[in-house]
Amino acid sequence: MTDSGTVDIHISLYDYTNDIRVNLWLSCEGIFPTAKVYGFGDRPKSCHLYGFGDHPQGSLSGITSSCIMQGCEEILLLLGEHCASTLLQTDISIRKGVNLGYIVVSTCLDYLLREPFTYALYFVTAMGHVNFGVSAAFPASSPADALQAPAASVLVIGAGLAGLAAARQLLRFGLRVLVLEGRARPGGRVYTSRLGGGQAAVELGGSVITGIHANPLGVLARQLGIPLHKVRDRCPLYHTDGRTVGTRLDRSIDLVFNTLLDHATRLREALKEAAEGISLGEGIERLRRLYNVAKSEEEREVLDWHLANLEFSNAGCLSELSLAHWDQDDQFEMGGDHCFLAGGNSRLVHALCDGVPVLYEKTVKRIEHGVDGVSITVEGGQVFQADMALCTVPLGVLKSGSIVFDPELPENKLGAIQRLGFGLLNKVAMVFPSVFWDEEIDTFGCLNKESSKRGEFFLFYSYHTVSGGAVLVALVAGEAALEFEKVDPVVTLHRVLGILREAETNTETPEMIQSGHGNRSGR
Ligand SMILES: Cc1cc2nc3c(=O)[nH]c(=O)nc-3n(C[C@H](O)[C@H](O)[C@H](O)COP(=O)(O)OP(=O)(O)OC[C@H]3O[C@@H](n4cnc5c(N)ncnc54)[C@H](O)[C@@H]3O)c2cc1C
Repeated sequence: MTDSGTVDIHISLYDYTNDIRVNLWLSCEGIFPTAKVYGFGDRPKSCHLYGFGDHPQGSLSGITSSCIMQGCEEILLLLGEHCASTLLQTDISIRKGVNLGYIVVSTCLDYLLREPFTYALYFVTAMGHVNFGVSAAFPASSPADALQAPAASVLVIGAGLAGLAAARQLLRFGLRVLVLEGRARPGGRVYTSRLGGGQAAVELGGSVITGIHANPLGVLARQLGIPLHKVRDRCPLYHTDGRTVGTRLDRSIDLVFNTLLDHATRLREALKEAAEGISLGEGIERLRRLYNVAKSEEEREVLDWHLANLEFSNAGCLSELSLAHWDQDDQFEMGGDHCFLAGGNSRLVHALCDGVPVLYEKTVKRIEHGVDGVSITVEGGQVFQADMALCTVPLGVLKSGSIVFDPELPENKLGAIQRLGFGLLNKVAMVFPSVFWDEEIDTFGCLNKESSKRGEFFLFYSYHTVSGGAVLVALVAGEAALEFEKVDPVVTLHRVLGILREAETNTETPEMIQSGHGNRSGR
């Protein structure tokens, strides 16, 4: 774990009562800048707006955020939510890298050797890795032992998952918090609609917990005792005429697809900087031609399905994704099963809202910030003042310039806002009177004849296991998602029902009860 220039700290926590030992690794290089920036223990009153580029995990070296999350979640689970009080012994061993300056190293060591566990706990708590969430142990109020000095105030902009989670945590740290939300409801891009006479919980926004390991949403679900349903692996594919894609064809093109991706990785390694100007789509197509694979019409359609699935997971067209960088965030992905949450993700939103002061229909138009604090003007002219602001609005809102920052945001943040992009993913949710598809699957896919339409209703998610109704959600990704925006929803609904009728030829598709639409923008 030791990189040149870092000090890695290994803390071994031992609970005598339960005979459990948990190991936690931290990197000093990350700890000190983080402690200075956030300094919750010191209750800074200065005004800072943190956003892109300031994320403290960016300064950790030799350790990924998911490593920390994994270690901390283990602590949380194994030692219980009151881990601080159940720990009876701490061991510490420190290995130091070679290039860190003497003064910094000795300061680190002195500090850490004095109170190693307290510091580690402080760090992981301040980072929100432990002691967070919605259990009775963490109400949205200051802990009893909080400092009595007047607390700094924070205005959180946006009551999506990020804003609500941050607001709860800041309240726990003893700050005074108010959330300003533009809409009349919390949750932002998480929205569970109740369709089919209110019987079925249908996700029109974020739906799948994409990897349960070290995922804070999984921790929330466990704290609330909400069951999770693992999305099962089997995903049959259907030809356009309704035939099931045969196992041999399915497996062989699956292998072709994965091999092409492996070769694309090697290609960019070989091309080095020259890979910068090539899109992932172009790279894969060049390799397909080079290796002369997926030549027949059927093979091509199945490969197109995999490419649509790749566009879905990246919420962008392959022609827009960079061969050099498309998978740069893979190392931060959550591992483990993908899951649905019983009853819908709004259950998490409502739990996060509990005890958090939120003002709705307060669309922020202007944020003035300086050494004396922040002054925020909402639509209609009302002004709110605080020591600090935490802005959690989506990238699209920042790009649109609908919020004026005065003074303007720093160059690095403006650059990041400008460089980051997003794409489209559309979904059509349908509620039927009964499940007419195979109940033992959670997903099935449909091929398309034309490559440009490969993402049109290419994947169906079945939510019958968790939603309280016979719910299917059809996804539209890639170029098809862009076209979808221009088409009348009634027309698209007929199209998707037509596809369903073909795909499920053995049974009759019953009349649909209700439908809904949602769309998602990704990076
Ligand atoms: C259709 C769809 C499907 C998705 N599927 C998945 C999935 O399966 N798995 C997954 O992990 N993620 C998925 N996502 C992404 C996930 O939902 C988001 O990443 C997540 O909800 C973002 O949370 P957030 O708090 O950062 O932002 P948001 O939820 O967007 O919250 C921002 C809040 O700020 C408010 N706001 C905006 N402008 C202003 C303003 N000027 N003043 C005041 N308030 C303002 C908004 O109303 C909103 O409530 C999906 C998203 C969509 C839309």
